[in-house]
Amino acid sequence: MKRKTLSLIRIAVLILIIIDITFEAYMHQVKGGGPEGSPSIHALCPFGGLESLLSVFTAGQLLDKIYAGTMALFIISVVLAVVLRRSFCAWICPLGGLQELFGRAGRKIFNKSFKVPVSADRYLRYLKYLVLALVLILTWKTATLWFSPYDPWAAYGHLGEGLASVWTEFAIGFIILLVSFAGSFFYDRFFCKYMCPMGAFLGIVSKLSPFRIKRSEAICINCNLCTKVCPVNIDVARVETVKSAECINCQECTSVCPKDGALVNEFSIAKGRTVKPLVIGLVTLVIFFGGIGISKLTGSYALLPQPITEETVITDVDSLKGYMTIREISTAMGMALDEVYRRMEIPENISADTTMKDVSGMIDGFEFHTAREKLK
Ligand code: SF4
Ligand code: SF4
Repeated sequence: MKRKTLSLIRIAVLILIIIDITFEAYMHQVKGGGPEGSPSIHALCPFGGLESLLSVFTAGQLLDKIYAGTMALFIISVVLAVVLRRSFCAWICPLGGLQELFGRAGRKIFNKSFKVPVSADRYLRYLKYLVLALVLILTWKTATLWFSPYDPWAAYGHLGEGLASVWTEFAIGFIILLVSFAGSFFYDRFFCKYMCPMGAFLGIVSKLSPFRIKRSEAICINCNLCTKVCPVNIDVARVETVKSAECINCQECTSVCPKDGALVNEFSIAKGRTVKPLVIGLVTLVIFFGGIGISKLTGSYALLPQPITEETVITDVDSLKGYMTIREISTAMGMALDEVYRRMEIPENISADTTMKDVSGMIDGFEFHTAREKLK
């Protein structure tokens, strides 16, 4: 299959995923993240599973805003990286997809793609591993989503709340998002290359994969096209095997190669058998969405909290959420309804079936996070 066609298929897949995730994130703002709501951007990102790992092993629970479905997405992404390296980044990741759209727009305007000088690029690539280490250490230490205010993806997911709200809650993440998009306009996949902790993690896992792209010195005509199209600037035309943790398995190089057999996909466990570029994309989608399907069938794809019932017991006020009604808080805390009204200073004319998010909108100066502290 020609490179242009394969590239279009991949971009079409990414656009569909971007639309779906953007819609989910917007509905999360509209309907809230309660049992009847829509998943938050945190719940939809597999990186939340990695952030929750320590908490799962030490306290037997996931971090706030992370659910069993997030963990399933994380496990599926790891399996995918073991089989097909970082193909998650090229075929699934919506943030990667958005950067690619900016990159394509930039190339159309300038008719060329820019490259960060090798001397700087070589060191900048390590930045994402530092980000990964920093995020994991501080997340695991604080047992909270420490990265959230700095996370460009969290900022993107909250754009539906309006710029003022994003600026208040995610100012740094929003700046990083703008820098990533502006950077990708000139340099392909700017955030992926230099800052993404999930990409760094998948790059490490990809070292376990038997998958590789192999170049045949005997057949190659040294046209350099493969190097030219690589979005992460791997010098494909000069290596025998693409082993780099930077490779996102986009298949741009293999599909652009004009010589049959010069650049092929293969698995070290099945030497001599090659796999077509389109098959790599299809297998990626089958593993990822098939994994989600299996997870749904086994009932482990929860991305929302459980409904509050008479059996629900909440002792930690930090676990009270904005989507909960006054009555649900009373039930979960085992506290009389009038006591909840009194302590949180909610006027009695507000219905007990009002969510805390709505209460905040009804009373000037009412801050849910401050008010819930009064229930301690
Ligand atoms: S080496 Fe090939 S598959 Fe890997 S990122 Fe570069 S173009 Fe994509
Ligand atoms: S595109 Fe194919 S023929 Fe051209 S340099 Fe790369 S591997 Fe060799």
